[in-house]
Amino acid sequence: MERTFVMVKPDGVRNGLIGDIVSRFEKKGFTLRGIKLMHIDRPLAERHYGEHREKPFFGELVDYLTSGEVCAMVWEGKHAVANARSLIGKTNPVEAVPGTIRGDFAMDVASNVVHGSDSPENAEREISLFFGDSAAAVYLFTSPPLTH
Ligand code: ADP
Ligand code: MG
Repeated sequence: MERTFVMVKPDGVRNGLIGDIVSRFEKKGFTLRGIKLMHIDRPLAERHYGEHREKPFFGELVDYLTSGEVCAMVWEGKHAVANARSLIGKTNPVEAVPGTIRGDFAMDVASNVVHGSDSPENAEREISLFFGDSAAAVYLFTSPPLTH
């Protein structure tokens, strides 16, 4: 089984989309393995998006991610990374097809509602970054998964 890191970004939390996004992952067949509402500080946002450090939009991206609470999640399932990316849709909502999360709920690339890891290696890196110091996550990850 593979795991992926998914995060409802501040605009998604502000717009009341946590429930809908969680529901789409559940209905698809993913198993929820960790979830928490949190405020990201700038160092964490910069580490999470380290690969984009040199991009012209990096400052704006960090401002966006730290502008409010996010909902950080770990979802497990077959091909979890690729399946999550297809539920989420293209990075730019203009190109994201209706039926995907970004296709249904976002208008602009600078506020695209949700994050999903782009590889299994990055998924594990991001899970450690966001859940590594959490006692709740240790409990969740060592207990048997919930079945439905
Ligand atoms: P994805 O989130 O689909 O993996 P990227 O890793 O390429 O996409 O980009 C990370 C995030 O940076 C995007 O989700 C989006 O929030 C932001 N972003 C990407 N491109 C731009 C841009 N041209 N202008 C502003 N923000 C951007
Ligand atoms: Mg990415």
